[in-house]
Amino acid sequence: MRKPVACRLGWHKWVRRSTPDGELYRECARCGRDQGPPGPAVPF
Ligand SMILES: [Zn+2]
Repeated sequence: MRKPVACRLGWHKWVRRSTPDGELYRECARCGRDQGPPGPAVPF
């Protein structure tokens, strides 16, 4: 999968998603990377 330039710079577009279990997590809308467990800082 090609990574968009913005993502390569670390500027992911985080969106909220939820697992089938109903647990929320964040995923990049562009490259699909998931952010893992909720952290203190959420850039974009
Ligand atoms: Zn991304």
